[in-house]
Amino acid sequence: MGQLKLVVRVFINFLKNVYKLLRFKKMYMPSFGSMTVDYDDVKIANSELKNKESWYDNEIIAEYESEFAKWNGSENAFSFMGGREALSACIFALGLKKGDKVIIPGYTCVVVPNAFWFEGIEVIFCDIELETYGIDYEDLKKKFSSDVKAILIQHLYGLVSKNYELVIDFAKEHNVFTIEDCAHSTGATLNGIKVGNKGDVSFYSSENSKIINTCMGGIAITNNDLFAEKIKEYQSKLVYPSNERIESVLKAFKINYYLQKNKYNWLIADLIKLYHKNQFFQSTTFEELHFKKPLYYGQKMPACIAKLGLNQLKKVDSYNGIRRESALYWDIWCDKNDFKKPVVINNSIPVYLRYPVLVTEKMKENHSWAIDLNVPIGMWFNGNLHPVSFPIKDCPNADLAVIRCINFPTIGLMNKLNN
Ligand SMILES: *Cc1c(COP(=O)(O)O)cnc(C)c1O
Repeated sequence: MGQLKLVVRVFINFLKNVYKLLRFKKMYMPSFGSMTVDYDDVKIANSELKNKESWYDNEIIAEYESEFAKWNGSENAFSFMGGREALSACIFALGLKKGDKVIIPGYTCVVVPNAFWFEGIEVIFCDIELETYGIDYEDLKKKFSSDVKAILIQHLYGLVSKNYELVIDFAKEHNVFTIEDCAHSTGATLNGIKVGNKGDVSFYSSENSKIINTCMGGIAITNNDLFAEKIKEYQSKLVYPSNERIESVLKAFKINYYLQKNKYNWLIADLIKLYHKNQFFQSTTFEELHFKKPLYYGQKMPACIAKLGLNQLKKVDSYNGIRRESALYWDIWCDKNDFKKPVVINNSIPVYLRYPVLVTEKMKENHSWAIDLNVPIGMWFNGNLHPVSFPIKDCPNADLAVIRCINFPTIGLMNKLNN
């Protein structure tokens, strides 16, 4: 962004804040990032920045993996620098290779098909249903053929995918693998079992906007010994990020906290933006947006990032509790305003990373209707392969969700709840 444009924007925001202050309005605005990060997490990042000797301590990494596995009810867990790399490890573990076909939902992040495309695997896009935004079972049956090797089940917004068990059974019946994308729904359960434990292999993300936050990071799990060996083999061949890269991740973790979570963010975020000239750490690179493998792809998680993860794991359940409380507020909002609530399938407990609502196309484009809500309006997903508007054939519900699904934050609704 041009320097002048930034200054003008900050100045306008300053005037808006003065106006709000004069009218005794709530100043704090929640965010979609960093909401589970507190000052104790920032202190860890600070101490790691000063103490580089222990950055690659294998014991800490093993501890994070075993704590995550324990919390998740899984046999094992393997850490990476991103959920996308964890997915690449899953693909390796299943032995998927060039020319194989997989089915994935046509409503996802670009990094998901990328992980397959980087290996020359053919991706078939399946439509979604509009209750939990998961794979549509009827469309899956239509698009399935005998040369499909794997199906990717995605649990979105913290919900448990409506056809979870149907798809698992279908895959077993047809002898194909299942991969679960639990990036949004880390900790959500069905019949008391956390999502990710039914598929052959599964992955989770601890990127800045997810349930557990290490700025960047991902985990792959499996309850199959053979696949576990394979994931381990894949992980062992990866390198750690360079010191410079790690330093920039730790710094971004801190900066994001002040921009997004700190209760004075309305005052300091603008100053931080000016200071950094609005240039911040991006988890998805220009190459990835163009379906190309970036330089940093495929690295494993160093101990200093795992330390952040260990601290996040201590509070994940309490934050997920807050998310569920906030969802009750949005449930009432939906009822009052005549919007359809997301569906919670029987015997499931969601974690509501975000609260999704289908609104009109106009409401997604222009948010003036939401000013008094005093929350940001989330746009996941803004394209079939978010954030890329990649046209996909025969996925009408996915197309509709792209145009009409907005989402609300579920932590930091201080003016509405007591969290
Ligand atoms: C964030 C996300 C990923 C990838 O996770 P990273 O840690 O960012 O690589 C995959 N799938 C979905 C649905 C996501 O939201």
